[in-house]
Amino acid sequence: MKRTPNIEFLDIVNEDDVVIDQKPRSEIHGLGLLHREIHVWFVTPDGKIIFQHRAKDKETYPDLLDVTVGGHVEPGMTYEETAIKEMEEEAGIHVDPKELFPLGKIRRRSVDTITGKINNVFRMQYAYIYEGEVSDLQVEKGKSLGFEVWSIDRIGSLKNDEKKRFVPFIYSKELTAVLEELKKLTCKQTSFVSIKVHKGLPSKIHGRGLFAVSPISKDEVVAKKAGCILNGLDLKAFGPTGHIELQIADDSYLGPKSMEDFEKNMIFINHSCDPNVGIRGDREFVAMRDIEIGEELAIDYAMIDDVDSVMSCTCGSVNCRKTVTGRDWEKPELQRKYRGYFSKYLEDKIVRG
Ligand SMILES: [Zn+2]
Repeated sequence: MKRTPNIEFLDIVNEDDVVIDQKPRSEIHGLGLLHREIHVWFVTPDGKIIFQHRAKDKETYPDLLDVTVGGHVEPGMTYEETAIKEMEEEAGIHVDPKELFPLGKIRRRSVDTITGKINNVFRMQYAYIYEGEVSDLQVEKGKSLGFEVWSIDRIGSLKNDEKKRFVPFIYSKELTAVLEELKKLTCKQTSFVSIKVHKGLPSKIHGRGLFAVSPISKDEVVAKKAGCILNGLDLKAFGPTGHIELQIADDSYLGPKSMEDFEKNMIFINHSCDPNVGIRGDREFVAMRDIEIGEELAIDYAMIDDVDSVMSCTCGSVNCRKTVTGRDWEKPELQRKYRGYFSKYLEDKIVRG
């Protein structure tokens, strides 16, 4: 085969992913010949995906958000070697192959409707848990505009106007399996608790509780829930252990994946109808007022729950509702009382009305 030095050649494979020929890249994309590529999904330990923002002059899907790192497998290279090489080129980091989690190989054919280019590939997909700062990733000049971070949950339920920002694969049905795998990988299990509190001590409200051992000021962060992102079925599978989870969206909860992680994941914050703690964002617990040494920290479940549930309350506060339901956030008087301390997804529901 004659080679012109500046033309990039790629292997062509058959349906068994066996190399049968080599052709210039442009011809492969023009004719839609089957070839190999890799995707590497960078995820953060708190459940976010780092997307690469494609440059505006890219020949396919310009200016859209794409997988963190992707590229064609060059002749003579394996999928894994390609992943490592592309991570260096596109993100400026060197990783050991052991740090890659293979997510499986898919067969995909897509047509860029603007350029007419056909990408007909076997794509090996990997995940990589990136624990550093996103701003430390090196942008490949000319090919990328940078990186953008989105939570895995949001990617699973993108609104139509949001979809326009992504390459079509991101909202294809093939991505669902990838998202499930990414979710499993990104569950850091140990919740943070401030040094100003002790968790798990006997509580007068219920079982074990969270107590101040130093004075805490209003709006100070007292704990941050970690865990896997679980759905209602996952919670049922975990079994009847009490309130292990923190709801962060409709049918989406943070919690331990197994009993093994129970102690390190639990914050042991009880419910009270006269709470001293609220939520910031979707998982940070903050003091709603100054808290003194020895006080039990408690939240009103109205600030975090949107579920079918009824609990008889024994919190002992003078304004105890006696019966606490999973829909108490809907009560106008509580919406007023806890304004600014509801979980983000509830705050959004309240604003939407
Ligand atoms: Zn109560």
